[in-house]
Formats: sequence, C-alpha cells, structure tokens
Amino acid sequence: MNLHEYQGKEILNSFGVEIQRGIVATTPAEAVEAAKRLTEETGTGWHVIKAQVHAGGRGKGGGVKLAKNLQEVEQIAGNIIGMNLVTPQTSAEGKKVHQVLVAEDVYYPGDSEPEEYYMSVLLNRGTGKNMIMYSTEGGMDIETVAEETPHLIFHEEIDPATGLMPFQARRIAFNLGLNGQAFKQMTKFVTALYKAYENSDSSLFEINPVLKTSDDKIIAVDAKVTIDDNSLFRHKDYEAMRDLREENPTEVEAKAVGLNYVDLDGNVGCMVNGAGLAMATMDLIKQAGGEPANFLDVGGTADAERVEAAFKLILKDPNVKAILVNIFGGIVRCDRVAQGIVDAYKNMGTIHVPIIVRLQGTNADIAKEIIDNSGLDVHSAIEFQEAADKVQAVLA
Ligand code: GDP
Ligand code: MN
Repeated sequence: MNLHEYQGKEILNSFGVEIQRGIVATTPAEAVEAAKRLTEETGTGWHVIKAQVHAGGRGKGGGVKLAKNLQEVEQIAGNIIGMNLVTPQTSAEGKKVHQVLVAEDVYYPGDSEPEEYYMSVLLNRGTGKNMIMYSTEGGMDIETVAEETPHLIFHEEIDPATGLMPFQARRIAFNLGLNGQAFKQMTKFVTALYKAYENSDSSLFEINPVLKTSDDKIIAVDAKVTIDDNSLFRHKDYEAMRDLREENPTEVEAKAVGLNYVDLDGNVGCMVNGAGLAMATMDLIKQAGGEPANFLDVGGTADAERVEAAFKLILKDPNVKAILVNIFGGIVRCDRVAQGIVDAYKNMGTIHVPIIVRLQGTNADIAKEIIDNSGLDVHSAIEFQEAADKVQAVLA
C-alpha cells in the first residue's frame, strides 16, 4: 500500500526521524490556517505548498511551489488543489490533486549550499537482506544518477538478525562526506530511519531529498513510503491511511468482491483460477502474439456469480478484444464452471468480444459440450496450445 508524503512523514516522525514539518489542507482557506499554525510552531515565514498525490516528480510538474506570504499560500494552494498534476511518473492525463501539504520552508533564504542526498531502504531479494541505498546526488532522478554516475550510489546491506550496526550508520555518514555535527545528525537520522522501516513493516522507503541545512540539521524533505500489504492486519492505523482515490478503480472494485485483479496494458482479458496458472496463461497469450490486459485469479470457487463479476471487471477495460478463460477443474467441476460461464453470459446480455474457454480436469468433456451447444460467441478448447491458437485466430 502506497501512502501520501504527509502520511509517510507522520510515520517517520513517530519513530524519531527528523522531518520537514507540515499540515495537510484541502482548501485554500485551510492552507492559510495551516501556514499560520506552522509559523507559530516553527517560526518559518515562508512555506512550500506540495501536491499530495501518489506519484513522484511533483516538483517538475508544478506541484511543489514556494509561498513567501499568506497571500501566496492561498493563491498557490488554490491553483494546485483541483489541478490534474502531470509528472514524469503519471499518465498523460495526470492525477487529480485533492489536498496539499503546507510545509515549513527548510531551504533557508540566502543559504547557498543546502546539500540534498538520496536515501532509500528496501529489501534486496537477491541477498535476503535489507538494504540502505544512498547517494550524494539527491533531489534529482535517481534513475539518471544510476545511469550517468553509478559510482555515486552506495549500498549498505543489513543483516535482519543483527539490525543496523552503529558502524554502518557511521559509514553512511562518512560516504556522504559529512563531518562534525552533520555527521552525528546523519548517523542519528539513518538509525531512526531504519528502525522506522523495520517497525512499520514497510517494503520501501524513499527519501529524496534528505536535506542538510547550513546549520547542520538532517531532515527528510520528501517521503515515499510503501507498507507491506500483508502486514496491514497488525497496523490498523496505517490501513486507515489508505486513499482509494489514488488506486486503480477496477482493482479496488475487484478487491471488494474478493477477486485478485491487476490491470495491465494489453488486449486479451484473462480469467484464470490460481496465481501460477494465471502467470502461465499470460505467457501463453504473449507467445500467441497477444498482450494480456490483466491478471485475474478467480480463486477456487468459479461459480456463475463469480464468473459474472470477473467478466464485468475485465470488460471495463476498453482495450480488451478477446477473453481467455483458463480454468483447471480440480475440486470445482468443469461442467459447473462451463454452466456458470453460459449463465453469466446470458445474464449479462451480449458480450461484444469473443471468449475462448479452456477447461481441463474433472468432467472437461461435458464442459466442452455445454460450451459448444450454447450457441454463444464462446469457443471451447481442451489443450493449452489450442486455446492460444484460438485467441490468435480471433485477434487476427
Ligand atoms: P517530488 O518532486 O515529488 O520528488 O517532491 P519533493 O518533495 O522532493 O520536492 C521537490 C523539490 O522541491 C525538492 O527537491 C526541493 O528542491 C524543493 N523543495 C522541497 N521543500 C522545499 C522547501 O522547503 N523550500 C524550498 N525552497 N524548496 C523546497
Ligand atoms: Mn522527491
């Protein structure tokens, strides 16, 4: 589950990570109130207004702006709230901004040399260890740094059994070229950050930039936080942070009816039981010259109701030109699935794309008869390859 910057910062701060402070606002008037309160709390006169959407590169897209007085706060918040923010990480339509973070300006006026670093914490699946990735080249695209100056990206691997060792935190501060008070602050920052990562059950932290101010404070100015979905049962407070407006509507709907659906870019809709078979089916579609439009695991009980719900989800995608149903009847009998498909089809009226159904397992032959005798634009197949060939034929 992805979080907004302001939510990520809240979590970081709860573990003692120093952050750029801010207050979230949904209207220009609220933004002005927030700015006043921040001035009382932090003494800042200037504020940055930051669009809260689940996408990076907001600065480049005009979603992060400096306001030097309350009038500017109101005006900028008015411009950003409600806009469709287009960044290098959104689609061409962009993402609608519902709220802004009014934050203290931490780049002091006249400060010629604020240092921006990059820092992320994530799991290195290759080594089975957590990893802190960091760079002196913060504030910009880390992908560009990785491409052009890979020697400026450092890694620190952390054994989950021992956790982050003090010498590792010091090595990070050293590699970032720090000394004195800034060195000390950075080791504190890294230690708190790692603790936050572990205890929040996150799968990704990306802090870009981490800022060193001219008075040697180390502050998280941005925060991208991804919480491991499998841990949400023990973090009800994080689960409550979920913003469904930021998520793919079809995926949200699928989750509500208990279907495992992931939206993809292709033209062949898939309905499969079992995640492994679903992956194999996607490979097969590619081999046959198509592109999967989705991943969809209908699970063990493929009855008419579930099949219908699945068809409806798949057909929401206007790119779908054909649907491949690939179901193995182990516990669930193929003839019941076939009847479910026919019933769902009739119940829905007309489906405007051809459907190829491959049912294998218990009573597969009866299932084939049901499909073949249905009189609908549904084509049966028993073998995997046969199904792929039929998909190719209807796409051609
Ligand atoms: P992103 O573009 O989505 O990654 O959003 P960030 O939170 O990283 O902000 C983008 C950029 O805005 C940062 O790299 C900074 O250069 C700038 N910025 C953020 N906070 C402040 C601030 O307090 N004062 C000033 N002057 N600039 C800021
Ligand atoms: Mn950033």
